[in-house]
Amino acid sequence: MKHVPVTFWALVAAIFGLILGSFLNVVIYRIPNNKSLIKPRSFCPKCNHPIAAYDNIPIISWFVLRGACRNCKTSISFQYPMVELLTAVIFFTTVYFVKPLSVTPAICVLFAGVISTSVIDLKYMKLPSKILYTTLVIGLILLTLSSYQVHNFTRLLSGVVAGLVAGVILFIFFLILPPGSVGLGDVRLIAVQSVFLGWFGWRFAILGFALGIIVGGFSTLGLLAFGVKKMKDKIAFGPFLSIGAVMAVYSTLVFHAWNI
Ligand SMILES: [Zn+2]
Repeated sequence: MKHVPVTFWALVAAIFGLILGSFLNVVIYRIPNNKSLIKPRSFCPKCNHPIAAYDNIPIISWFVLRGACRNCKTSISFQYPMVELLTAVIFFTTVYFVKPLSVTPAICVLFAGVISTSVIDLKYMKLPSKILYTTLVIGLILLTLSSYQVHNFTRLLSGVVAGLVAGVILFIFFLILPPGSVGLGDVRLIAVQSVFLGWFGWRFAILGFALGIIVGGFSTLGLLAFGVKKMKDKIAFGPFLSIGAVMAVYSTLVFHAWNI
């Protein structure tokens, strides 16, 4: 399929990202509340009125309905179109830029996982294992296929080892730091994302880990300095680790451009 331009695949990924983003909103609403993802179909949480297919079109419906339920006019969070747009943009960028092309489906799975867990962490202060393990299992299958494509199974091995090592390191932090600063969810998240980053090479797993800690550390200091958060407040660390993972994936482009 070498004759198909990468722009085509990137556009397909963007459309898929819009649809998946819509599903991620369902995941974000239902998983933390222990509700089934399949049944019932989408409904307004306020008036329980089922949402018609034509009112469930990613991004467009939110604007057509001016961010309110058609039935009861209760406002629908801006999170809905934002998650859809973010997923589409990140899928497009990944497929368009990240090399090799064969690894990009796996990376899209990682990003879908970190987008949904980050929003849940911000809203509920938890990183559901169900989502992280699903991301890991689907990711491992796709990473195996990609390793087969590039005839390099060492990459898969280095990913798995990187995941284990990163998980153990953060688990040690979990044990020695005061309770509440690092959660077991963070340990699982860093292990899962390091499997994907380690596939590109050790330095990317280390970079993702370091960037997550640095971005998280500075943001926490900033939030404390500006009085947005207080010392006793819990701050969700998952989104920062996720930002580190996204930055590390895109850093492969720089390394690629410099030929190192
Ligand atoms: Zn309603």
